[in-house]
Amino acid sequence: MSSTAELKHFIGGVWESSQTDDILKGINPATGEAISLIPMASSAEVDIAVRKGQDAFVEWRRTPVTERVQYLFALRQLLEQHFEEIASMMTQECGKTIVESRAELRRGVENVEVACGMPSLIQGYNNEDVASGIDEHMIRQPLGVVVAITPFNFPGMIPLWFLPYAIAAGNCFILKPSEKVPQTGAWMMRLLNEVGLPKGVVQMVHGGKETVDALIEHPLTRAISFVGSTRIARYVYAKAAKHGKRVQCQGGAKNVAVILEDAEMELTSEILADSAFGCAGQRCLANSLAVTVGEARDVFTEAMAGAARIRRVGYGLDENSEMGPVITPDSQSTIENIVGVSEKEGARILVDGRGRTVDGFKNGNWVFPTLIDDVDPGSTLAKTEIFGPVFGLMHTANLDHAIELINSQAYGNMACLFTRSGAAARKFRYEVDAGNLGINLGVAAPMPFYPFSGWKDSFFGSLHAQGKHGVEFYTQTKVVVERWPSVWSRKF
Ligand code: NAD
Repeated sequence: MSSTAELKHFIGGVWESSQTDDILKGINPATGEAISLIPMASSAEVDIAVRKGQDAFVEWRRTPVTERVQYLFALRQLLEQHFEEIASMMTQECGKTIVESRAELRRGVENVEVACGMPSLIQGYNNEDVASGIDEHMIRQPLGVVVAITPFNFPGMIPLWFLPYAIAAGNCFILKPSEKVPQTGAWMMRLLNEVGLPKGVVQMVHGGKETVDALIEHPLTRAISFVGSTRIARYVYAKAAKHGKRVQCQGGAKNVAVILEDAEMELTSEILADSAFGCAGQRCLANSLAVTVGEARDVFTEAMAGAARIRRVGYGLDENSEMGPVITPDSQSTIENIVGVSEKEGARILVDGRGRTVDGFKNGNWVFPTLIDDVDPGSTLAKTEIFGPVFGLMHTANLDHAIELINSQAYGNMACLFTRSGAAARKFRYEVDAGNLGINLGVAAPMPFYPFSGWKDSFFGSLHAQGKHGVEFYTQTKVVVERWPSVWSRKF
């Protein structure tokens, strides 16, 4: 039995009990047990946090960047030290397997490592003698108080797509984690407190829509980073723009993999089973559709059906589990409904993961791997982000048509190709309208020194998360053109 943690906001370096009556229960999606009580921050509480952040900014931006990154080196050490405890918490609140939690947290730590390079990353550039005796410089300065609003599916990694870059660049940062997975963020705040980060440089407020609105509307917040569903991404993007904020919003996805006849089928089906069913399909980089080309159809379909049937579904803390539950009962019923709709729309269910349960965990939100054949490109299943372990198959005669099917999607987060042909790979890379591509890879997750490059309805903004894009997003450029006439110099 786990205990129920009464969560607090982390404001001005202090754990603050909330004044609100609006309290949500955080539920372990595998056991159905309440594991946390989460206060939804009011606009008054948001105002206090933003003002404390603004106060802290005065000294923090003056702290040399070489000193600022020392806190990140120390954070990295503590993340390593508490790695297993944090991964275990992620599994308990988010449902993914412990192996998946470890892999996720590893990518989070890698983002901290990349941001430790801020002394070089934040450099500007200059020219002498842009005109005779006149020099010009570009310098980067931090913005002030910046905010990240994050989703449930990567509670350990996604806050670290933003936090390390923001503070290393000299900003003060407020995290609003998903109300479904609030405890992983609390772990990070504890560690940042332990490394002695000045009060107010990093803060966390729990909450939902009202809290997000207050953060966006506050006159002192300068930049908003959002990751979540496309519907909310559009809302946050429009609202932040209306309030004059710098904004980047990463949205949902419907990723398509193309399998050519010359692909190595056994390996391809293993890779795509991990992509489609890993994290119970709740990854913005999950492939949820495949297009087989020509004779790839039969052998790939059979291999995928086998992979779907044998995947071990269970409690994520059990090291033998290969797939955990989905996040909420609502999510489970939405997924099951769409599977039902797909059948009505003419698709064929080859492996049905509905109505199954895991022994000893009858209250979990279980959907087992599901494989659906003959999906029509115009159908609900082909167009909707299901965010569950459901993989749909489409078939075509050539690569051109497969690329057309990808490019007809509203989303553009990722697309993958499986082949031995360099020419096919080049064509795919050149013609596909998606921002992250995998060639013989099922989850093309950019390393932290590359931008996380969603396109179309998967991203609203211009600068993405991670790496140099993160540095640009969190700094404003200042250009100085200067002349020092020798006639003045002589006076000094
Ligand atoms: P969500 O959109 O429901 O929630 C995301 C955040 O928005 C949360 O912090 C939540 O509290 C807040 N929020 C929810 N409703 C709101 C509202 N009405 N107004 C203001 N804020 C609101 O997303 P989720 O279910 O937590 O996460 C899953 C989604 O995130 C999927 O669509 C997935 O594809 C997407 N995602 C995208 C990426 C990416 O990089 N593109 C990465 C991870 C997840």
